[in-house]
Amino acid sequence: MILKTFLGFLLAFAVAQAELKVSANFPNGSLGPVSRVGPLHLRIGVKGQSDQDGRNRQASWYSFRVSGVPRKAEVIIDLVDLPGEYNYKPNRGAITAETRPYWREDGKKFKWQQALGDYDSHEPKWRLRIRPRKSTFLLAHIPPYTRKQLDAVRKTVKPKVAVVGKSIGARPMELWTIDLSGGNPKAPVVWMMFRQHAWESGTSWAGDGFLRNLLPGVVWKIFPWCDPDGVEEGGVRFNKRGFDLNRNWDSPNDVAARPEILAQKSAIEAWLAKGNKIDLFLTLHNTETGEYLEGPPDSRLGKELFAVLKERTQFDPDRDYFSRMKIDAPGRANVIQWLCGTHKVEAMLMELRIANSKKLDERPSPESWSAFGAALAKQIATLLLLPQSLQ
Ligand SMILES: [Zn+2]
Repeated sequence: MILKTFLGFLLAFAVAQAELKVSANFPNGSLGPVSRVGPLHLRIGVKGQSDQDGRNRQASWYSFRVSGVPRKAEVIIDLVDLPGEYNYKPNRGAITAETRPYWREDGKKFKWQQALGDYDSHEPKWRLRIRPRKSTFLLAHIPPYTRKQLDAVRKTVKPKVAVVGKSIGARPMELWTIDLSGGNPKAPVVWMMFRQHAWESGTSWAGDGFLRNLLPGVVWKIFPWCDPDGVEEGGVRFNKRGFDLNRNWDSPNDVAARPEILAQKSAIEAWLAKGNKIDLFLTLHNTETGEYLEGPPDSRLGKELFAVLKERTQFDPDRDYFSRMKIDAPGRANVIQWLCGTHKVEAMLMELRIANSKKLDERPSPESWSAFGAALAKQIATLLLLPQSLQ
């Protein structure tokens, strides 16, 4: 009895003395204001990011570390500052009841898992309850994917890497070429973009599986890392000057304001100017709950790709293949609107949800995204190679 009381006293003492520390000083880290509600209860703001006009605040990325947790203690975290704006319309934000936060113990061997806790739609906020086995844990919107992981792919795949420009933060803009045409000048050419928006790590997990499972017979041209500053610094969807990496494709070329878009644009145009073709261009994105494929109107290739992905992969669209080529306003063209409009390329955009997937019967994970990437590479190659093999 005395011992129990004594141990209880020790635990209470440890809790009262607890000094939780929160940090995001690592690649892809992002953290807003932190305030202490109690020794084991923190209120943490999502940093969010606004555009060049201070509009369209999007709070869809956070990734931070909490340390100093006493043994066996439960930590309460209130995740706040969630509402934002999208295409100039206010919204409740990307962090909702459907996007439960992920956490893991600090250490590579630990897997990301969904955190316990409740979403309060009134404030709105997430109140999370985390009981780590060790003193440190990580919390993020979805499992992060950093440059280190991409470098591992690069080592395995051994692409021909061209640095086609630099980001505002002087990081290289890379175009990877994996020419598996076997010298066939008629081989299909596929251009892919991953991670146009920094928060969308799901597209990098898919890219990881995609790149490791390329089929022969195709020339693969890949932009694997479209926003190097954003990913490194925990950004959301804008570059350091506030320009959305998937808008502004019709804006004037401006190396100071939009070097990332300019680098990619120039590389694509140089390819076309040499008389090369692009049979398919596809950019991958993440949304909270939507999943779809859009592209040129009445594109046979688009409709076929949509059909095979729906039938044979985990792609779980919430609408049919569609086209949205009308630009909202000058400077608002995305990459596919620009490519289809200016160069008549079969350019498509795919959104993959991060919330629950009916087909998977769970939320997508790094493993399922990677498996989807592999399946996507296979279906694209099959679709483009089949007509030739039948000729
Ligand atoms: Zn996106």
